[in-house]
Amino acid sequence: MTAVRYAGLDLGGTNIKAVVVERESDGEIRVLSRGSHLTHGREGADAVVKRVAGLARATAGEYGVAGVGVGIPGLFDPASGCARLIPNIPGEWVGRPLRGPVETAAGRPVALINDARAFALAESRLGAAHGLGTVVCVTLGTGMGGGVVIGGRLHMGAGTAGEIGHQVLQADGPPCGCGNRGCAEALVGSAAVLRMSGRPSVEEVYEAARMGDERATRTVDHVIRWLTVALVNAHALLAPDAFVVGGGIAAAGRALFGPLEREVRDHVTLGRPEDVRVLPAALGTYAGALGAALAVMEQGKDRAPTR
Ligand SMILES: [Zn+2]
Repeated sequence: MTAVRYAGLDLGGTNIKAVVVERESDGEIRVLSRGSHLTHGREGADAVVKRVAGLARATAGEYGVAGVGVGIPGLFDPASGCARLIPNIPGEWVGRPLRGPVETAAGRPVALINDARAFALAESRLGAAHGLGTVVCVTLGTGMGGGVVIGGRLHMGAGTAGEIGHQVLQADGPPCGCGNRGCAEALVGSAAVLRMSGRPSVEEVYEAARMGDERATRTVDHVIRWLTVALVNAHALLAPDAFVVGGGIAAAGRALFGPLEREVRDHVTLGRPEDVRVLPAALGTYAGALGAALAVMEQGKDRAPTR
């Protein structure tokens, strides 16, 4: 068996990240290229789908890939390949075909994957949790997404497993974009962090907390407290070998990860606290695109490049 190439695209509100990876005959995965393109979300859903399809076609042609994975910032129907909910890119998304147009343009099999699930797949295979069996991954920025890997495989459940950010942590808490109240995302997503701290960016909140600012420190403590609840609940259910936390919150660095791991250990009463690990994500901003490439690689539909 020779090396086979796959493309991964990660559709975001601002950028579309693109990678090409190559799986060697010994299973080793090598990254051949990475790039970033503007989404131009304001041009509407139709233009955005065309842009993704165009990138897929160009990449498939240039690298002779066997399949294209596309990370979607929301939910889709796996059977039809149509969007169900894409909250952070303007336009009419509900029911819009995603997989079909990209597959037609690329002339290759296309796998769709939620972007947080793609992040989880990549971090568990190639990143912070490489080699671990059960991993719960959290990506925290505007939203709070996640994914669960069990025995090295992404756990999908009936389709949306891993939505750690939509655990209800506070009955009658603040409203969440999903329609519930008191979700983890509504408590620790960047909107809540900016509101609580009165600062314009999450990075500034952590910087101010480092400098000893009282309101910023209170905000960071709030984030650590509620993230702890989210992770402790997930631990009770899944007892993972590790948690991986990434997204915009990675800017917080050790100021967050040290206390967070300590707090989670303090509240894990059933397992051995010393076995609890909270790891910063390792793959950076291309994790989602890498995970999308892994998703199509594992779909088992790959066929030899036709070029
Ligand atoms: Zn929610």
